[in-house]
Amino acid sequence: MRRFVVATMVLALLTGCSGTAEPAVEQPDRGTIGIAMPTTTSIRWVGDGESIVRQFQLLGYKTDLQYAEDDVNRQIDQITSMIDGKVRALVVGAIDGTALKNVLADAATAKIPVISYDRLIRDTPDITYYATFDNYKVGVLQATTIIKALRLDSTGGSDNIELFAGSADDNNATFFFNGAMSLLRPYLRSGRLRVVSGETAFATVATQRWDNAVAKKRMKRLLAGPLRGKRVDAVLCPNDGIARAALEALQEDGYRKLPVITGQDAELESAKLIAAGKQTETVYKDTRELAKVAVQMTNSLLLGGVPEVNDEKQYDNGVKVVPTFLLQPVNVDRTNYRRVLIDGGYYTADQLAG
Ligand code: BGC
Repeated sequence: MRRFVVATMVLALLTGCSGTAEPAVEQPDRGTIGIAMPTTTSIRWVGDGESIVRQFQLLGYKTDLQYAEDDVNRQIDQITSMIDGKVRALVVGAIDGTALKNVLADAATAKIPVISYDRLIRDTPDITYYATFDNYKVGVLQATTIIKALRLDSTGGSDNIELFAGSADDNNATFFFNGAMSLLRPYLRSGRLRVVSGETAFATVATQRWDNAVAKKRMKRLLAGPLRGKRVDAVLCPNDGIARAALEALQEDGYRKLPVITGQDAELESAKLIAAGKQTETVYKDTRELAKVAVQMTNSLLLGGVPEVNDEKQYDNGVKVVPTFLLQPVNVDRTNYRRVLIDGGYYTADQLAG
């Protein structure tokens, strides 16, 4: 076959005619990888999907990429169809980290390895590796911004903060919140920071399915209730979508001097708000790198190798400690967004200006 392709190419070169389009280089048939992503409503996952597909294609794999739009049963159906379609491996960004036990047992029976992507899949022995960012550190970076911006260490008095967390069924959300609270708690204990609403428990401040509308509604309720007539100095927001939701609620309430607002993902809309001084910071996670790690892990497993990991302690999914590769998140604010996001090639200057 190869000889035939080469002969055809030589003939084409000699005759200046490509004839029937035979591929110049034969791609090995490496089979298909199933990629199950949670949603397209949070824009980061769209970028994740594109990067993962591109990386697999470069290695000669085909891909089956599906989004479940935050519908848990739909994600289970999609994974089932990938298993039935005999994918060679699965890369899964879970919606509900505890809901995939049975479908992943089917994957295990079919000997399909599963990479848990960004979010840890819980309560199952049937995930092989985990690729993510240092999720605890994300929260630490957010809290560091609040501590610095409010000058909690160098000034006295009392500042008011409200807390938001991500979706309780997303394992990451607890890590983000715990990371932030590890730094904020001493100030809450000493009274240097006060949560006027009194809502501090993770379960109370969590935002089901990371839904921005839910977060906005909660912020509005707080502003109309316990915060009426009080100043809010900071809002801990776990990601950019929730940051913008809080911001909208504050602006609709007539806030001019906006509080310190944190975020995550370096979404374009939020990067613009940072440039405009409206959102204080975001935590940038280069999802192109995460895609590369997940693809390398998968490829290495399929070739019979042992994927590289750098964390074998933190991520216990309730059944086992999952070997993990952690990437480092980066704090982005008004002082460094150009260098990190534009010079780093994540956005062009035009995109940010537009
Ligand atoms: C991701 C965040 C994202 C959030 C909502 C989390 O699991 O790590 O980057 O903002 O989900 O989609």
